[in-house]
Amino acid sequence: MLELPEVLTLSRQLDKELRGKTILSARRGGPHKFAFFKPSEAEVAKVLAGKRVRTVRGDGKCIFFELMPRAFFCIAEMDGRILVHGRGAELPPKHHLVVSFKDGTALTGTVGLWGFFGAGTKEPPILVDQTQTIDPLAREFTPSRFERLFAEYPKPNHAIKAFLINRPRLRGFGNGYMQEMLFSAGILPTRTVASLDRDERRRLYRAIRKVLSDATRLGGSADACDIYGRPGRYVKALGAKVKACSACQGAIERKSFLGGATYYCPRCQK
Ligand SMILES: [Zn+2]
Repeated sequence: MLELPEVLTLSRQLDKELRGKTILSARRGGPHKFAFFKPSEAEVAKVLAGKRVRTVRGDGKCIFFELMPRAFFCIAEMDGRILVHGRGAELPPKHHLVVSFKDGTALTGTVGLWGFFGAGTKEPPILVDQTQTIDPLAREFTPSRFERLFAEYPKPNHAIKAFLINRPRLRGFGNGYMQEMLFSAGILPTRTVASLDRDERRRLYRAIRKVLSDATRLGGSADACDIYGRPGRYVKALGAKVKACSACQGAIERKSFLGGATYYCPRCQK
């Protein structure tokens, strides 16, 4: 899943590479059950053809392309790769979207588990409702705003994991960076929302900002790649391949709850 650090990295690169370029055509690539086109692949192709890229920006789990004349293209909730290819370069054998530009360059989207591609002319297509959430890297996300999220949370007996990703009030991350944040804050993912004291909430706030800004500065996670196919430089402390804790060298544990496996260190996280 492309989370905020990858979305910001890709968006900045896409803006630099594609700004001002004119789209020749867009079409669906090979079949994929979970490559979704909104409203439809024909409509996406129709909206994109002949448009020029004005800007590309990232927000949450979405990459927004603003086009001229007025139109929008958006890639959201993407688990997969987005690559830009030079003139005449071979495209990846498996891809589910290809956007060709007048100058011979191309963008491909290769979906892993799932991904959304949307386009429209009136306003950006709503693929994910972002209106009720806060950008965790924005200035408006302050320690007191975070305190309020806790105070307003309707299910104080739910696990902190649920607070962070199942009913998120903060946008742009899922299980991957959530684990990093809780590890960095020294808090077990199974702790209830109500059990965190003020000091722990403060540590979690700082961990959210630090993990996301460090990962963004390092070009995203090492298990994802940029538009040139180069991996990011942020190495996650937890994941399926990590056996030992980087802080205490003890064994990392895995627990499946609330719709997915979560890794943690039972010594460093309380
Ligand atoms: Zn540890």
